[in-house]
Amino acid sequence: MKGFAMKKIGEVGWVEKERPTLSARDALVRPTALSPCTSDVHTVWAGAIGDRKDMILGHEAIGIVEAVGPEVRDFKPGDRVVVPAITPDWDSLEAQAGYSMHSGGMLAGWKFSNFKDGVFAECFHVNDADGNMAHLPESISDAAGVMLCDMMPTGFHGVELADVQFGDKVLVIGIGPVGLMSIAGAALRGASEIYAVGSRPNCIKVAKEYGATHIINYKNGSIEEQVMELTKGKGVDRVIIAGGDVYTMSTAIKVLKPGGKIGNVNYLGEGDYVMIPRVEWGCGMAHKNIAAGLMPGGRLRMEKLIALIEAGRIDPEKLVTHRFQGFENVEKALLMMKDKPEDLIKPVVFM
Ligand code: NDP
Ligand code: ZN
Repeated sequence: MKGFAMKKIGEVGWVEKERPTLSARDALVRPTALSPCTSDVHTVWAGAIGDRKDMILGHEAIGIVEAVGPEVRDFKPGDRVVVPAITPDWDSLEAQAGYSMHSGGMLAGWKFSNFKDGVFAECFHVNDADGNMAHLPESISDAAGVMLCDMMPTGFHGVELADVQFGDKVLVIGIGPVGLMSIAGAALRGASEIYAVGSRPNCIKVAKEYGATHIINYKNGSIEEQVMELTKGKGVDRVIIAGGDVYTMSTAIKVLKPGGKIGNVNYLGEGDYVMIPRVEWGCGMAHKNIAAGLMPGGRLRMEKLIALIEAGRIDPEKLVTHRFQGFENVEKALLMMKDKPEDLIKPVVFM
């Protein structure tokens, strides 16, 4: 089968591989729509997970089940499914402890385009199919469906990590597709004011549509100063980090009220240390809590997010700004994700 791969750090290209083999609880899926992710860009061009040779990229795809192992109960060939980016081993001790994304070791629930070939292929392998796939209803479009794989669950995880409560003033740093979903999630959780940090006009427009009440352009001056001015020196109750670098945590600590919480879903591809300013962290005593994590996968989570879309509570298709017809365009879409043109939020390739 044909796949689009990372050939080595800094180089991508097409590869020809054997189709994946199937164990008893696994499934093979033929993608019908897929999307490159900022994480694919970090993987290839920042070498964020180390070197890989001819590893098929991608972890965001919906598709049609081609085959299932004999122990798969709830799926059959022909079913339309969404497969989350994180596909844990659900019988692992880590999953039993509530951290399925770390099943088999830290971050090891992230298998696609990390420990095994990803979804930018004519066919891809799903472990633990009953636990890691969800039926995608016909009412949900392909474009919206593919936003369920990673953007929606990750953005919402930022909201969960920051533990947003009714009435909270929430700062969302980074309004690419992940941060935009954090805005939508914070609004659903009852935030009063949502301050959104970004610069690209299309992201700003969609941020407002998802519930941002104030926009902060980090290119026009310090984020701290802008937040403090908007909050009359008080700061915010919660910060969600979905963009920036190792210094962004420092900003988050500075603008957070004592007792506030930070949820980080940003993937830090560079730098050795994350900066926490000692004094603004109350010399370690400010109850400014940091939670940071990889998004949870799993069928239950997919089904809940699907229910939100079906109920009309959120429309993730607003993230999709660029559409390509034909698998051969996956390279174009990935490069677009790398170069981030002004009007881009998320590209989708339809197969
Ligand atoms: P994007 O690159 O599309 O968005 C990044 C956002 O951060 C943009 O709004 C950008 O602004 C803003 N930004 C860039 N630099 C700064 C800065 N110095 N200070 C403040 N804001 C800044 O990324 P995605 O939305 O696709 O993904 C966000 C992060 O989430 C990535 O690191 C990605 O790898 C990670 N991720 C994590 C997952 C997890 O499970 N935890 C899963 C999936 C993704 P501008 O408008 O100027 O572009
Ligand atoms: Zn992704």
